[in-house]
Amino acid sequence: MRKTDLVRFKKIFIEQREQLLMNFTVMDEQLMVKPEDKDEVDQANADVEQSIRMQLKNRETFTLRKVNESLKKIDDGSYGECDSCGDQIELRRLMARPTATLCIACKEEEEKLNASMLLGGRFHYVH
Ligand SMILES: [Zn+2]
Repeated sequence: MRKTDLVRFKKIFIEQREQLLMNFTVMDEQLMVKPEDKDEVDQANADVEQSIRMQLKNRETFTLRKVNESLKKIDDGSYGECDSCGDQIELRRLMARPTATLCIACKEEEEKLNASMLLGGRFHYVH
């Protein structure tokens, strides 16, 4: 990968990480708010909100981990390599999904595998 591309991706990741960390701060503040003087309906709504925020936070934690892994790869020079076959991941794929760790061919292979496993499971179920 060209150095200019690497620099560009690094910038994307650093900005994404800042955004995520900022979201965490906001979410933590919201999670710490203790509902007081609420009736049961309000309490139920608050519980639902709480669990949605927790799910969101889990997803963002996952994204943050991917972003950090990508930044580490940029630093050690392995960014953009397919985890499965070791080839360079297509640049247009990385543009669309900067944290991608598989090239298009390997990704399609993986999806085919998942699909056939699902199908296999369903056939089995019919028997
Ligand atoms: Zn591959």
